[in-house]
Amino acid sequence: MGYKKDQIKDFAEEIKEKDKDIKAFITIVDDPEVPESGEYKGVPIAIKDNIITEGIKTTCASKILENYIPPFDATVVKKLKEAGFVIIGKTNLDEFAMGSSTERSAFFPTRNPIDLERIPGGSSGGSAAAVAADMVPVALGSDTGGSIRQPSAFTGIYGFKPTYGLVSRYGLVAFASSLDQIGPMAKTVDDIAKVMSVIAGKDEMDSTTVDVNIDFLKDLNKGIKGMKIGAIKTVFDEQGLHEDVANAFEEFVKVIEELGAEVEWVDVPSIKYSVAVYYIIAPSEVSSNLSRFDGVRYGLRIKGENIKEMYMKTRNAGFGEEVKRRILLGTFTLSATYYEAYFSKAQKVRRKISDELYNSLKEFDALILPTVPTPAPKIGEIKDPLTYYLMDIFTIPANLAGLPAINVPFGKSGNLPLGMQIMGRRFEDAKVLRIAKAIQESTTKNKDGKTHGCYREIKS
Ligand code: GLN
Repeated sequence: MGYKKDQIKDFAEEIKEKDKDIKAFITIVDDPEVPESGEYKGVPIAIKDNIITEGIKTTCASKILENYIPPFDATVVKKLKEAGFVIIGKTNLDEFAMGSSTERSAFFPTRNPIDLERIPGGSSGGSAAAVAADMVPVALGSDTGGSIRQPSAFTGIYGFKPTYGLVSRYGLVAFASSLDQIGPMAKTVDDIAKVMSVIAGKDEMDSTTVDVNIDFLKDLNKGIKGMKIGAIKTVFDEQGLHEDVANAFEEFVKVIEELGAEVEWVDVPSIKYSVAVYYIIAPSEVSSNLSRFDGVRYGLRIKGENIKEMYMKTRNAGFGEEVKRRILLGTFTLSATYYEAYFSKAQKVRRKISDELYNSLKEFDALILPTVPTPAPKIGEIKDPLTYYLMDIFTIPANLAGLPAINVPFGKSGNLPLGMQIMGRRFEDAKVLRIAKAIQESTTKNKDGKTHGCYREIKS
């Protein structure tokens, strides 16, 4: 099914050509390694540049790791290679995955292939753009507060954040370890399920992985008749909700009902605290995780008179503005005087939000809500960080509670794609994909030929 050794070089050249305007890739591998065997032998895949790859530069889109070449593969990369996938390149992101637009890459912004004036979203914007522009069939992203799902919504593709603990984080450069998950991005749910079958599973190198055996493909086409779905009505309280997104969400509910599931509107009021909680917990973990970049162990080193001066000069020159902002915020919220007031408090609210979601999910097979309150903004349009932070309101809850969640391309605003989200119970990832598949089928293969405003016909 995939490319042969002598074809893959041409394929890499083709990507280079296509990527001239979009700039999805930081690195395109000139002579990629084609595995000898494996079910997916020769299928190209792009990897977000915060997931380490042996012998291939891994920068996190940061000056501090600009020339860093890892000595080993992340567990997911190792598994993909064993399954035959070809690592074709490394995709752009907001520095250390902190951001929502890929404008905060230290190197260059990535453009949205649907409209080159707009952001592709972020932080996995390079992976989203590479898939949306048909440069690769699948890509890996990472999702701490929405970084797989939000760019998938802005570019009209599927993007899945698995249950926390289902996919190994070994070799993912840590942002906020209690929230980070790696997941696939693709144009079809089948491709998402196939990649999940390869990357999921217990890993002794990541103690947070859980030993569960999920068959992602077995029930994928069984439909959703008889399921009970909770539509989160709290989303209409969100002030920044774009009219087209609100309309698409109501249409989404109708499609699910037509497919034979029962939909009930449900309140999840604590969602409104999720952004505030996230922007305490995530920076706190950042301040601790990023202390390892000190000029001694990895990447950039700027000499100083003494070791302290070297640390300071290296970190000052190596980190961008947003990363520094988060380190400062997190150092503040973890400091002795403020720890109780901010960090401990945020942990308690995180518990409350999670409990509210777990309780709703006792009653429902899955919950639905839009992925993002708006369509993709223009490059440079949003200047203050807070506006971007607030846009994460619908994606952050799944990270706080460790739940699986997928973006389903659904609806349009002008020519821009919109995305709806399905969130499931912990480790019921296969059910989330099954629901997404049913919707994919109905939006692309409707009896009367009418689509439900899905951005494009999805090739099966
Ligand atoms: N936009 C969020 C942030 O800036 C989420 C990032 C992510 O999921 N990596 O932190």
